[in-house]
Amino acid sequence: MATDEPTAETVPRDSRTGLANRDAFYRDNAPLVEQALAEGRTLVLLVVDIDNVDFALRTFGPRERDEVVRAIGERLEATAPAGVYPYHIMQGRFALVLQDTPYQRAVQVERALLEACRQPLEIQGAPYRLEALVGLSHFPHHAETLDQWVRAAVFAAHQARTTRSGYAIFDAGWDQRDRQRFRRLVDLDEALQHGDEICVAYQPQVDLATGKCTGVEALCRWDHPREGLIPPGSFLPFAEQSDLIGPLTEAVVAEALADLAAWRERGFDGEVSINLSPGLFRDPELQDRLMAHFRFANIDPEHVRFEVTETGIMEEPNWGINTLAAFRSRGSRISVDDFGTGHSSLAYLADLPVDELKIDKHFVQGLAYPWGEAIVGASVTLADKLGLATVAEGIETELQQDKCRELGCGKAQGFFTGRPMFRADFEAWLGLSPAAG
Ligand code: C2E
Ligand code: CA
Ligand code: CA
Repeated sequence: MATDEPTAETVPRDSRTGLANRDAFYRDNAPLVEQALAEGRTLVLLVVDIDNVDFALRTFGPRERDEVVRAIGERLEATAPAGVYPYHIMQGRFALVLQDTPYQRAVQVERALLEACRQPLEIQGAPYRLEALVGLSHFPHHAETLDQWVRAAVFAAHQARTTRSGYAIFDAGWDQRDRQRFRRLVDLDEALQHGDEICVAYQPQVDLATGKCTGVEALCRWDHPREGLIPPGSFLPFAEQSDLIGPLTEAVVAEALADLAAWRERGFDGEVSINLSPGLFRDPELQDRLMAHFRFANIDPEHVRFEVTETGIMEEPNWGINTLAAFRSRGSRISVDDFGTGHSSLAYLADLPVDELKIDKHFVQGLAYPWGEAIVGASVTLADKLGLATVAEGIETELQQDKCRELGCGKAQGFFTGRPMFRADFEAWLGLSPAAG
């Protein structure tokens, strides 16, 4: 949002800071863009974002804030090539345009501007360090219009937050990922509110000694109306960063428990494993809501297992441990997912309210090498000593399965035993008697 108003009808400059403002930027650069298009010339836009300009306003007052803006403007002007002037296009945001500048040179200017802004600034005798980020976009390489060009540089400055250096050059790939991510979230929200787009695939877990199927892991899938079947890796991370992870988990739980109830009626006496994301632990109503699903499906909590990664527990140690302990006290069991990939200390493991280790597929698939065998073997020994059960994940070959059995692993889960399957395929795989009616 622009805060600087034109001070006279024709001079779009900010009277308080003396800097050309947003209107001036558009007035000056619209013809430049037209000209660049017509004559095949190139332009580079540098957007400088100063995150903490408002500290001056909060700490001292509007006069000091203007002082800071003016000082940044002076630094930018002094650092930029001759004839290039900064525009103050928004509170804390400056823009500079380079014409016909080679790419390498433009990046040098970008870095120099960042350096200049990062030098401490003196306000009322005290030094202040500004948090600056710079983004660069190229016309016409990154944009076809003035608005797109500005948007690209602003986006790059935003992305600069995620780089160590504090500056970034627009990358169309980021932009597309960002848009896709946003659309996915909107679609997912809709999918969760109505419809049956979120579905569950079941992957069998088999007792390595008897060959009997002891249960299934519920793995979510998204049957997207336009994009087809989407694996969890392409939408879970977004869901986990939003509050959709709660409804998503409940959708999986509802479907998995209904299926389990139907299978149990038909003679299956196994359990279902549900994955829990760490973000869920902060929800104080999680337990109550999941318990309501148990009652609705008429499933005893002891037929349900929860899977959580080591890193997941460590992310929310207090809430995580309390929630897991509460589920456990109701009879559910807890498995440590992807065991071996987290960084929790082994000593800590002994204190966690867990029943089983799921040895990560990376180690299982490394069983042909001495390191794989050493890690799987050591994990089984550790689990035995702590009184925990073990599952080997990601078994793809008979050899791996034999090796896991030999090393004393309790259960197997992997493509070799059975891929994740939708309801009907799993029922056929299990050889369940046909549903009554
Ligand atoms: P995970 O919990 O480790 O689940 C096992 C993943 O390994 C599944 O991928 C499964 O298809 C895959 N897999 C199983 N056997 C093999 C094998 O032999 N070889 C190989 N290469 N892969 C195998 P999927 O279904 O894509 O799920 C990925 C991850 O998404 C899961 O990893 C889990 O962390 C997460 N996830 C899935 N469903 C849910 C859910 O409902 N809630 C939450 N919070 N996370 C879920
Ligand atoms: Ca899992
Ligand atoms: Ca796993």
